[in-house]
Amino acid sequence: MPLTASDPGRNCPLCPRLVAFREEWRAKQPEWNNAPVPSFGVEEGRLLIVGLAPGLRGANRTGRPFTGDYAGDLLYQTMLDFGFARGVFETRPDDSLTPIDTAITNAVRCVPPENKPTTDEIRTCRTFLSGTVATMPRLRAIIALGKIAHDSAVVALGERMSRHKFGHRARHNIGSLSVFDSYHCSRYNTNTGVLTPEMFRAVFSDVRAFLDSDGS
Ligand code: SF4
Repeated sequence: MPLTASDPGRNCPLCPRLVAFREEWRAKQPEWNNAPVPSFGVEEGRLLIVGLAPGLRGANRTGRPFTGDYAGDLLYQTMLDFGFARGVFETRPDDSLTPIDTAITNAVRCVPPENKPTTDEIRTCRTFLSGTVATMPRLRAIIALGKIAHDSAVVALGERMSRHKFGHRARHNIGSLSVFDSYHCSRYNTNTGVLTPEMFRAVFSDVRAFLDSDGS
């Protein structure tokens, strides 16, 4: 279920460094996606989950956000536990995992070298994040995974970063939307104890309660 209206084409030319990296991996691994990873989920959803960027051997390989590396194991299991998905997550795009009331995207759609997009790349790709927000008419909540996703979401919603500081489990009301922050569910963060599954579940519990009590 890609949200195609807001997705860049496979050959988006806007970030020269990322285009070169993409081309390098198309040559090395022609079977991989090696292209901007489209958003995945429900356009009429009330929740948008925003990650950082595709992992080289994760979403960049499989073509679906958070699919193919550890971060997806924790994300999709937590979504299943809180009623934001059904089916079975099997780390491949043709599994039965189906988001409910939710779409998943990344602040930067192309894989960056060493998982580190530049400020310019984040700013440039924000046009597609803004587009995704604009194509979700019932959107009420955003979960921002990490500071870069948080900052980009805040700006995409027309606010200044300086007015909304990232903090795990912080909630920011911007217009009619609420942005819920979480540390990114990367293997690094979970291995180092920055984020435990319980801390991650607490954010989803907050969002579940918010949406369940939301009258709109
Ligand atoms: S990161 Fe975004 S803006 Fe940059 S080339 Fe990829 S899709 Fe285009």
